[in-house]
Amino acid sequence: MELRIILFAFIFTPILSLCQDSCTIDHSIKKYFFLQDSFEDSLTYYRKLFRKTKKISKKDERLELAFYVALRHYPELENTSIRVKFKKINSTMVAQPEADFIVKSRNNRRYKIIINSTKETIGMNYADLTFNALVGWIGHELAHITDYNKKSNGQLVQFISNYLFSRKHMKHTENCADKEAVKRGLGYALYEGVHELFRNPKIFKHYKERNKEYYLTPEEILAEIKRVEKE
Ligand SMILES: [Zn+2]
Repeated sequence: MELRIILFAFIFTPILSLCQDSCTIDHSIKKYFFLQDSFEDSLTYYRKLFRKTKKISKKDERLELAFYVALRHYPELENTSIRVKFKKINSTMVAQPEADFIVKSRNNRRYKIIINSTKETIGMNYADLTFNALVGWIGHELAHITDYNKKSNGQLVQFISNYLFSRKHMKHTENCADKEAVKRGLGYALYEGVHELFRNPKIFKHYKERNKEYYLTPEEILAEIKRVEKE
């Protein structure tokens, strides 16, 4: 390797990795962000629209609105039963079928999105996310639910076991959910969500490393947005 290449790598590699953790977001991207103020007038309409099938177990209008804004990008989930609940978990959010799915038909299946409720776990607390980033994280979870919805009970059991025991399968699943969220127009929200995770000093390093391994990085999300825009 030429000396100048070695020098380039020596000087810029630490800068680039530092950048991933702490750089501010390019101003030109912010115009694509979801702003809470722009949707506040729609909250009553959304509550009415989803009153039969969606439940949020906490009174938090910001979270409720972010959930509905993300949900509007998945019209096929309009009649799907989803509840949002809070629990101490070791990640930021997770989407799962309700435990009784095995005795129900696919059409009557219910899902839950569990959100990390404490600040003491290794996951990110939802209260630390901006409105736009919250839309992005929830959009990722809804992408999982659209995927579960396509599976029969047997396929879902197989999927869960693959997810738990195969790192390759887990990475593929998480990458697909990120890509689906981008395809649905939630790319910049997801980008800010992941960006916030990497620059949050309260988040354990190994959780950030795990995120880099299984999910799209902020740079990969931007590349995916550009790829989808070209299609
Ligand atoms: Zn996921």
